[in-house]
Amino acid sequence: MSKAQPSSDRIPMNLRTEALEQLLVERGLVDPQVMDTFIKTYEKDVGPLNGAQVVAKAWTDPEFKQRLLDDGTGAIAELGFKGPQGEHLVVVENSAEVHNVVVCTLCSCYPWPLLGLPPAWYKDPAYRSRVVREPRTVLAEMGLELPTDTEITVWDSSSEVRFFVLPQRPPGTEELSEAELAALVTRDAMVGVAQVSA
Ligand code: FE
Repeated sequence: MSKAQPSSDRIPMNLRTEALEQLLVERGLVDPQVMDTFIKTYEKDVGPLNGAQVVAKAWTDPEFKQRLLDDGTGAIAELGFKGPQGEHLVVVENSAEVHNVVVCTLCSCYPWPLLGLPPAWYKDPAYRSRVVREPRTVLAEMGLELPTDTEITVWDSSSEVRFFVLPQRPPGTEELSEAELAALVTRDAMVGVAQVSA
C-alpha cells in the first residue's frame, strides 16, 4: 500500500518558501545576498513615508497634483520614487463624493516604492475577497464609517497596474507645511481603508 503524499497546502508557507529559495540558489538562479539586500531595503528603508511625501506635495502643489492624476508613474518619478512593483502607478483621488480603496484580488500587488511591503491584512484572502463584494462593511470593520451617499470604488491592483489613493486633505490644515502634512498621512489612508485626520 502506498502512503498518501502530504498535500502541499498542509506544509507551512515559510517552509515551502524556504525550499523554493534553496532550489533557486542551488541552481544559481538567484544570489541569496542580493535577495536579502532587496528584502531588507523594502522592509526597513522604504516605508509609507515616500507615499506620504507624494500626497503632501499633491495637496500643496496643484500642478504636481494634475500631473500625478494624469501620469502617476511619471509624476512620482519626479520625486525620485521608482523601481520594482512601481513601474505603472495609477493615482485615484478621494473626494466628498467618491472614496477609493485598493485591493489585489489575485495575490498582493502593492506599490512598493511608495509604501514598502504590504501589511498582513492586505494579503489576507478575507480582505481580498470581501472588500470587492461588501466594501462598505469591510471599511466599517476597519474603523472607517463612510456616509451612505459616498460612492465607494474598489480598484484591483495587478502586476501591470498598481493603484495608489490620494486621500482628502483634512480641514484645518491650511497653515501646515508640506513636511507637517506628510507626517499626517498614513499607509492605510493611501490604500483607502482610512482617512487622514489632523
Ligand atoms: Fe497581486
